[in-house]
Amino acid sequence: MCDAYSESVKNSSQTTCSCRELDSVKLSYAQCCQRFHDGRADGSVLPETAEELMRSRYSGFVLGLVPYLLATWHESTRPQELDLDPQMRWAGLEILSTRAGGAQATRGVVEFAAHYVDGGNAAAQHEVSTFVREADAWFYVNAL
Ligand SMILES: [Zn+2]
Repeated sequence: MCDAYSESVKNSSQTTCSCRELDSVKLSYAQCCQRFHDGRADGSVLPETAEELMRSRYSGFVLGLVPYLLATWHESTRPQELDLDPQMRWAGLEILSTRAGGAQATRGVVEFAAHYVDGGNAAAQHEVSTFVREADAWFYVNAL
């Protein structure tokens, strides 16, 4: 493997995960969402809670991981395809509240604000999202 490539992967692994930028505890990408993004291919590493899935989907949007976003979208609401706006400048995720969605639950609700910059102005997408767990895997269903 090319050294420059492995070095850049290592460096991005050690920067703060994009879902943690607004948190007081700054987990690195390697400590946070990378295992879910990398593990999805063989299903070996799945988020345990609805909040973890929500975080990994936010960082997936930031990183442009369309296959991951589609794979974690419940089949009942999943779009055929997903076009991400390359101009979108995400600025951080705030988890505002969670209901259920724990390691033993099959349903969960996560209220969040996803911050972004629009034409130089700070803005936020506020959403209450619902999640279900099937065969140990959490899926995003829809916004309430
Ligand atoms: Zn993360």
